[in-house]
Amino acid sequence: MTTMSALGEPCVLLKLGEIVLKGKNRELFERRLISNIREALQELGLKVDVRRRHGVVAIFLPLGATVEESEAVAQRVADVPGLVWIHPAWRVAKDPDSVLKAGIELFRDREEVKRGAAFAVRSRRRDKRFPMRSNELDRFVGGAINDEYGLPVDLRHPELTLSIEVDRDEVFVFTGGIPGQGGLPVGSSGRALVLMSGGIDSPVAAYRMMRRGLHVDFLHFSGIPFTTSESIYKAYALVRKLDRFQGRSRLWVVPFGKAQQSIRSSGQDRLAVIAQRRLMLKTAEEVAHRIRASALITGDALGQVSSQTLTNITAQDHAVELPILRPLIGWDKTEIMAEARRLGTLEISELPDEDCCSLLAPKRAETRAKIEDLKQIEKRLDAEELAVQLADSIQEYTL
Ligand code: ATP
Ligand code: MG
Repeated sequence: MTTMSALGEPCVLLKLGEIVLKGKNRELFERRLISNIREALQELGLKVDVRRRHGVVAIFLPLGATVEESEAVAQRVADVPGLVWIHPAWRVAKDPDSVLKAGIELFRDREEVKRGAAFAVRSRRRDKRFPMRSNELDRFVGGAINDEYGLPVDLRHPELTLSIEVDRDEVFVFTGGIPGQGGLPVGSSGRALVLMSGGIDSPVAAYRMMRRGLHVDFLHFSGIPFTTSESIYKAYALVRKLDRFQGRSRLWVVPFGKAQQSIRSSGQDRLAVIAQRRLMLKTAEEVAHRIRASALITGDALGQVSSQTLTNITAQDHAVELPILRPLIGWDKTEIMAEARRLGTLEISELPDEDCCSLLAPKRAETRAKIEDLKQIEKRLDAEELAVQLADSIQEYTL
């Protein structure tokens, strides 16, 4: 364990993204963000103090906290949407000499310093009452570092940058940081329901919408009783993987095998996939009303498979009244896979399974399904009533 009390106290400084553009609503967004940060940090079991400062958020750790602890805090908040940069930092007294001492201390024993790397000091003042202007402070601290370590200054392409931010009650000093998720705080856009297959696309779609401020529930249709529970385990593992971005995730599972069987025996083979997708959406809409979600989310990408042609996507939109959000509509499969890899969902999605869709695989799927034909099938099925029954048979899995 390392404590470096000579430096001041460890803390973490957070830079907000788009929230800064929010004008009158900014207050609301910031409050939501702070409550999300507090909730995410609960699992670390540290008593932290999350404070709003002018344009930034500071997380203060308890007295005597270690560098490792502040790094753990930084790593955890790096998954909270709404932040663009996370800087593990030091909180030092608000006078030029303390800042200088901290700067020198921060450079000590660094590998870059031993190599004689070029450096720069960048200061900014959020409190203009500080006795030195930014460029004066840069030169004051930079000069001292130069004296101490003999490093060259390079303001254009420094390898090591010492950042100094003068705030209301203290000065934050840091080098480097980790990029955040960007986007908006989860919950600031409301609630939605993701149709989660266990495949590659839907977990990525869920993440993209969380990042735009939606808190999401997950709905999975399993082929039970005609398949094993494998697809449910996969969906559960995916939800667990994604939970770090929003917290309090719930997975809902609908046993869909029997409904599929009726679709197969009631209609034209080529329309079965779209008919089944419409039934999923109708069921999802019923569930959404019950949990007060105001949109559905799917992992559709235009043209990826026959059910995702423009005509077929339109036929799906007509099945429900709630909006269907499709964040991946313009993405290539390679782009979706790269994002899934980054999120850690790809390796789960690639595990073999048999979800309900594998039960229905016609030799030739219709690429231009007609709504009238679909309505015929649905009439025979009594699809509206069936959707309600399916919603009644739902099972909840809480993380
Ligand atoms: P994914 O990789 O997300 O499974 P996909 O490329 O396999 O997508 P489809 O099987 O056509 O595409 O599914 C399109 C969308 O329909 C999925 O992204 C998902 O939102 C929804 N969906 C498909 N199957 C299921 C299921 N068994 N349970 C819940 N939603 C599903
Ligand atoms: Mg799928």
